[in-house]
Amino acid sequence: MREPVLSQAIEDYLKAIHFLHLTEKRVSTSAIAERLGVAQASVTGMIKKMAEMKLVEHSPYQGVELTPAGEKIALEIIRHHRLLELYLAEAMGYSWDKVHDEAEKLEHVISEEFEDKIDEFLGRPTADPHGAPIPTKDGQMPAFQGFALSQAEAGDRVVVRMVSDRDAEKLRYLGKIGLYPNIEIEVIEKAPFNGPVHIRINEVSHYLGRELAEVILVDRIEKSAEGKAQNNS
Ligand SMILES: [Zn+2]
Repeated sequence: MREPVLSQAIEDYLKAIHFLHLTEKRVSTSAIAERLGVAQASVTGMIKKMAEMKLVEHSPYQGVELTPAGEKIALEIIRHHRLLELYLAEAMGYSWDKVHDEAEKLEHVISEEFEDKIDEFLGRPTADPHGAPIPTKDGQMPAFQGFALSQAEAGDRVVVRMVSDRDAEKLRYLGKIGLYPNIEIEVIEKAPFNGPVHIRINEVSHYLGRELAEVILVDRIEKSAEGKAQNNS
């Protein structure tokens, strides 16, 4: 159960810190400022306030870290966000490039009951329309495997796991070429010196700039022709 008294800004900070911590060991206030598009001075003030509320810990050496209480709230808001995105897409016909902005606002205001109803309505989904895992009700983030398409090698056959939801224009373009989660891609060639990645989707080839290839997370498809036998021992 989450306290209903937190401000929207604090919830956005918690989400940002959670996200940055996935890739950076030490989350700096300047990284938070950049992620949220606010001045560093306001971040410093807010982090101080959040430390007093025991949502974060901050030391020059460790950077900013979420406390277990802060982490719990971050996951709750992320759960709202991803369920809402899927609901908007599945139930209301929103395209995948439009759901993020709506979910950014709604995630702060829906009740636990509303969250449960959406979850039930959608059949207890595990991923949002961009392929991002939905944290469980008890605050577990499902494990995620994948690497950026820009890291794939020529000849790789990969499946799209997740696309970043933050750039609607990129999503519109990728939707146009049919690149969505669970779609298979063949990497034909990777041009040197950060040149484009040449891929094939359903017999059609496309060139993706590295900037675009970086926001697409993929996983290798097993080479085995053994059929159904899954041996993940
Ligand atoms: Zn989103």
